[in-house]
Amino acid sequence: MIRLSAGTAACLGLSSTRMDAFPTTAYLLSGRKCLMKCSFCPQGTGSNEALNRLGRVNWPEYSWPDVEKSLRGAREKGIERVCLQSVRHGDGIESLLGIIARLKNITDLPLSLSAWIADEEEASTLLEAGVERISLSLDVINPLIFEQVKGGPQHSRLALLLRCAEAMPGKISTHLICGLGETEAEALSLIDRLLKADVTVALFAFVPLKGTALENKKPPPVSSYRRIQAGYYLLRDGAAEVSSFNFLNGRLRSFGLRESDLRARLSGGSAFQTSGCPSCNRPFYNERPGGIIYNYHRQLEMPERETALDELLFSLGNGSRGF
Ligand code: SF4
Repeated sequence: MIRLSAGTAACLGLSSTRMDAFPTTAYLLSGRKCLMKCSFCPQGTGSNEALNRLGRVNWPEYSWPDVEKSLRGAREKGIERVCLQSVRHGDGIESLLGIIARLKNITDLPLSLSAWIADEEEASTLLEAGVERISLSLDVINPLIFEQVKGGPQHSRLALLLRCAEAMPGKISTHLICGLGETEAEALSLIDRLLKADVTVALFAFVPLKGTALENKKPPPVSSYRRIQAGYYLLRDGAAEVSSFNFLNGRLRSFGLRESDLRARLSGGSAFQTSGCPSCNRPFYNERPGGIIYNYHRQLEMPERETALDELLFSLGNGSRGF
């Protein structure tokens, strides 16, 4: 048995659940209870509910033959990538290698893996087995909050991430969650460091989930998330340097650009779409359909682009320092 995100199952025809949007990546989840105790995650050791969820999304379980059959026709259903996510378990990478071999046997779609990796050797073995990209999730941006929320020091996971990116260029990603108590200056400095090390960053907004230790914590204000998304986009695009950003008490006040430049760079709306591996759109992973959209899973419509940009520019307001 293996779990699929509810949207993936509906897209592949394994369930008749009505979805507001379909994924362009097929998301699979392996394993049950995770050995980690991340306080934002329903899969973690400390959570006591909603074991079938990761992010806001439900993950029903299906038999391998059903999943294999449906994945064979995935391209025709708009799927462009497969993402295998795994909880941390005690089996090393052996069980993952078995799943990867199974997936490679049935589809030539590029395969991403998000899993707890012990060292570079494991990452390299997984790439040799046919994984195209590996995500080592840092999740938490601030080192002290990392210890409280995930347990253990951040520096050893960050060092492994950077060593993997150096040894396996263009193959390594990470996930970062905004809204866990870090400042915008910390978020953008870390993003800048990761980009310079050739790590692909997938940004998430924190979502409080029932049954987790952080169920009562609020999600970040959308204006703050927009500033991080825009800063990340400008850094990734080479349009700005973090040294030209202006912060006040950790909050971003300006990107050091003229308003017309900023509008021209961001008016397409891509900055506000889901980030991460190519073709990864994760519909409604952070948000309820009809609610505030943190990561758009598709291109933004013109009014959405204007609203996102206006929200951003209004929230900067840095007078003579520009935008
Ligand atoms: S960015 Fe998307 S496809 Fe890549 S590992 Fe993360 S969830 Fe999977």
